[in-house]
Formats: sequence, structure tokens, C-alpha cells
Amino acid sequence: MPIYNAPVQETRFILNDVLDIGRYSNVPGFANASPDLIDAILDEAGRFASEVLAPLNRIGDEAGCTRADDGSVATPPGFKDAFRQFREAGWPTLVAPDAYGGQGLPQVVGTAVSEYVLSANHAFEMYQGLTSGAIAALLVSGSDDLKQRYLPKLVSGEWTATMNLTEPHCGTDLGLLKTRAEPQADGSYAITGTKIFISSGEHDLSDNIIHLVLAKIAGAPDTVKGISLFVVPKFLVNDDGSPGQRNAVSCGALEKKMGIHGNATCVMNYDGARGWLVGAPEKGLQAMFVMMNAARLGVGLQGIAQGEAAYQNAVAYAKERRQGRALRPGERGPDRADPIIVHPDVRRMLMQSKAWIEAGRALVLWGALQVDLGRRSPDEAERVRADDLLGLLTPVIKGYLTDKGFEAAVLSQQVLGGHGYIREHGLEQFVRDARITQIYEGTNGIQAMDLVGRKLPRDGGRAIRGFFELVGKNIAEAMAAGDPAGAAAALAPALADLQAATIWLAENGPANPDNAGAGAYPYMELVGLVSLGWMWLKMAGASARAIAVDDGDRAFHEAKLATASFYAQRELPLSGALRRQIEAGAETVMALPVDAF
Ligand SMILES: Cc1cc2nc3c(=O)[nH]c(=O)nc-3n(C[C@H](O)[C@H](O)[C@H](O)COP(=O)(O)OP(=O)(O)OC[C@H]3O[C@@H](n4cnc5c(N)ncnc54)[C@H](O)[C@@H]3O)c2cc1C
Repeated sequence: MPIYNAPVQETRFILNDVLDIGRYSNVPGFANASPDLIDAILDEAGRFASEVLAPLNRIGDEAGCTRADDGSVATPPGFKDAFRQFREAGWPTLVAPDAYGGQGLPQVVGTAVSEYVLSANHAFEMYQGLTSGAIAALLVSGSDDLKQRYLPKLVSGEWTATMNLTEPHCGTDLGLLKTRAEPQADGSYAITGTKIFISSGEHDLSDNIIHLVLAKIAGAPDTVKGISLFVVPKFLVNDDGSPGQRNAVSCGALEKKMGIHGNATCVMNYDGARGWLVGAPEKGLQAMFVMMNAARLGVGLQGIAQGEAAYQNAVAYAKERRQGRALRPGERGPDRADPIIVHPDVRRMLMQSKAWIEAGRALVLWGALQVDLGRRSPDEAERVRADDLLGLLTPVIKGYLTDKGFEAAVLSQQVLGGHGYIREHGLEQFVRDARITQIYEGTNGIQAMDLVGRKLPRDGGRAIRGFFELVGKNIAEAMAAGDPAGAAAALAPALADLQAATIWLAENGPANPDNAGAGAYPYMELVGLVSLGWMWLKMAGASARAIAVDDGDRAFHEAKLATASFYAQRELPLSGALRRQIEAGAETVMALPVDAF
């Protein structure tokens, strides 16, 4: 069976030494998050993830979900009891606002906990994961009545939520959606249509399921501009808050799919179901974007979490499995063969995975901190800066980190050779489960388009200029501090490549939009490469400071410095190639006529 141990020391290092969250005690929520409380939360979440959730991961994969003729869906054996424990321990309430029964802790702490749950059991986490996004959307756009009716139970975990965008003929292009909403005399709407691929659409873990559904009100423009957002509960909610009559929404089928078998991916039929408008009519996409942005950060984390789980198993295997001799005679052991971890090519796979995952974790937690600062900082300039940077890097966190998480899972599988392809060791499940993260919540190609087409030009390029300034400043500071791992020296030319590529896109995109479309993906990769380099710069600085004051964990910090050097020398030079791909423009990409394919 695969192993999983929550990387609590890694999380603590990022929260305390790299992000220094202690300095935000003036931001609501942070004052309560004392280091002792955070330590206790991380330890307990790690224990729950590895002892309760990880053992159910294989069971969920093998048993999957089952749908009965009446449309009800049973989750895999053990999920129901684990979800009850999860709810009773209060995990769903961690970061939710105290006004609705939450603990009001910082998002950055909740994100750290979610990583463990996701590594242990991706499919299980998804029953709760989308609920946080729905809570965020209702908080921003819901009426007081909707908030009072739905939030307390969503916060407590008694109810869960779903996100309904996709239809059979409409995925990326939401303007095509056909689900209709007919206004009713009592102010509600009758929702009719079919949604597909709905994660956690029907299941047996919660007393009610609250669907957030995109639909067009009769008479609205038949484009993205005509989309509204509705709350459609599985059970209508009585005035006393209890679940009442069954609504006309049901699961028509379960999708059979490559991975995350433990999560119910449903076809949902809305047959005149009663729904209530969230926010203003025809402003549904804006309201849904709050949920989607939260979900995109969550999916970036899913990528890293699967990479971490796979990597832990690859390391354990590489220390045990003996094949071949170390290339340098002095490193050969007494046996006929050495553990494969002595081979440079095996090290390459482990080092790449380690370098992506550790910096990816830092970047997701940094992103979660920007969520906190953007929402709650008392300083307006800080709120704007956090919003700018988070908006810019959300598609990168989703797109680049899921690519790297998947690559880490594949490299970890490769470390096991043929045994990685065989079910027993669990690596093939990590690969299958990680793969969806590159596809859903907007494919990674669409994330790249979002970055180049919307996020770069927004506010006259204010966010990307702010990013350049911040990374440039951090490079200068690291240089002044002696550049302990050489990360600053390597990051400076990579940043220069990114700046040059940005100017090239600004100059060559508007004249020929195919240049922006063809360059978008390598551009997202270049921003991702630099962002992870930036995180290594920060981590190397934090570790060098910790070694200087002799904080008692020298080996941990020396490993950080060594991994930062690896990233600086083996990964950051890729910036030149990415820049050249972008500057090559669209000509060769688009040269062939369609018939030539
Ligand atoms: C397991 C699973 C769970 C899911 N969960 C949910 C859920 O809970 N809720 C929900 O609403 N949806 C969900 N989805 C749907 C998912 O978000 C979509 O599948 C995804 O966004 C892509 O849409 P599509 O499949 O229709 O692909 P399409 O939109 O048809 O895209 C096909 C290809 O064309 C590319 N493409 C499309 N348009 C453009 C363009 N303008 N420029 C460049 N490239 C383009 C895409 O990148 C992709 O490579 C889920 C899907 C799966 C498989």
C-alpha cells in the first residue's frame, strides 16, 4: 500500500520562516492564529489525513461510486464515516466567517490543511472542496436571506455544494449554455436543463446538496452576457432551516472516468427545479467567478498534493530497490547492487519533483495569503496589491502547478520502473488522479489565454509591473545578503527573459492575435518558472537566516539551500528557450491548412 506522511515541517517552514505570517496580526483572523494553534491544527490534520483518509484512497479508486435506479448515489465504503468524522472534528469550519459558525482563521491555514487532505485522498476532498468556493460566492453576491438560509449548514459541513457550468455542447464557451430559468410568481425561478461532469453532484455524505447553477433567464441575451447564477437545493429549505420537500433535480448518470473514482461525477437533470437568483440578473458569471477563482487555487493545490504523495512513495522505493552499481566506486555498498537512489538519473527525477513541489507549495500558500490580505487587510494599498498579484498568478497557480504536479507524479512513477505501472504500489493511481487537474476548472490552455488575454492588459499592465518590481526587489535583497544558493544570480536573467517576452507580446499580440494565442502557453510556463524561482529565492533566504542563528534544524535548511541551487542551475535556464518559443510567433503554429492534419 502507498504511504503518506503529512509534510508538517515543510508547511511550518513556509508559514513561519518564508511568509512570516506572524507579522499580520493586525489583519482580522491572524491574531487568533497563534503559532501554537497552527502547530496543533497542522499536526491533527496531518494525523487525520494519513490515518483516516489515506487508507480509503485505494478503496475509493477500486469501488468507485454507485448509482441506484432512483438516482441516489452511494460513495465508496468508508467515505461516509470518514466524512462524519471530518465534519464532527470541525474541519469544514476552519476558515469560514464566524458570523455563520466558522472559526474565521486565515485562508492560508485552511489551504495548508487542504493539501494534506488532498494528498491523502483527492476524491474525498472534492466533496468538501467546492463547498468553500460556494460559501465565498454566496458571501459576496448572495442576498441576506440566501446567506441566512444556506451558509450556516454549508459552513458546518452538514450540507455540501456543487458548481454547475458544463453542458453537453458547452464547456469552455459558456455563452453557448442552454439551461433556462423561468421567473415564477413567488420570486423564485424554474430551472430546466442538463449539466454534465458535475463533481459531487449527488452522494450520501450530507443532508442536503446546494447546487450553484448557471442559466439564462427567459428573454436574456443568448451570449455570455445573458448568464445568471442560481442556488438550487436538492431539498427545498424550510423557514426553520431544515431540509424539506425534494426539488426537481436529479442525477441522471455517473460518468465512468480515468481517475478520482471515489468522487461522483454526475449528469444532473434540472426539470423545472426551483432556484433562487444569486446577485443581479445577467451578472451570473461575475458571481460565479468568485467560486471559480477559489476553485482554481484549489486545483493548483490538488496538482501539488498528488505530486507530493507520489514523490513520497518514489523516495521510499528508491532507497529500498537495489539495481546496478553506483557510478563512483567509492559510493558502492557491500552488496551486489546499490539502492537506485545512488544513480544520477534517479536523483534527477527526485530532485525535479522535490524542487517543483516544495516551491509549488510555497506559491499556493503565498497565493492563499494574498486572498487573506486582499479581503481583510486594513491597509487599502496592501489590499489592492494583493488582489493584483493574486489575479495575475491565479491562472499560473492553476495551470503551471498542475502541469508540474502531474509531471512529478509521472516521474515518481518512472522511479519505480515497471512496478510504477502495476497497481500494487499505487503510483498509477496518483498519475490518473493528477491528470484531471490539468483539464477541469478551465483547461490549462484556457488558463494561459486568461493570463495573456485578460490578466496582463488589465489596468494598463499594473499587476505584471507590480510583479516585476517585487521580484526584482527581492533579487536585489538576496544579492545584498550574499545570494546563499545562487538563486538570485539565476533568477535575474530569467526575469529579464520574462520581461522581454512580455514586451514582445504587447507589441506583437494586438496586430496579430494568433501571436498572443500561440505564445500564451509558453508564456504561462515562463511566469510559472520565474514564480517558482522567486519562491526558491525566498526559501533559500529563510534557510540561510535559520542556519545563521542555528535554529537547530541544520540538515533541513541545508537541503533547502541545495534544492534551491538545483532549481537555479537546472530549471531556471529554461527561460531562454521559452522566451524564444514565444518570440517565434504564430506563423509556424498556424502554417498548415486544416486539411493537412
Ligand atoms: C472529472 C471531471 C469533473 C468536472 N467537474 C466539473 C464541475 O464540478 N462543474 C462543472 O461545471 N464542470 C466540471 N467539469 C467540466 C470541465 O471543467 C470541462 O471539461 C473543462 O472546462 C473543458 O471543457 P470541455 O470538456 O467542454 O472542453 P472544450 O471546451 O470542448 O475544449 C476542448 C479543447 O479545446 C480547447 N479550447 C476550447 N476553446 C478554446 C479557445 N477559445 N482557445 C484555445 N483553446 C480552446 C481546450 O483547451 C481543450 O483543449 C468536470 C470535468 C471532468 C472531466
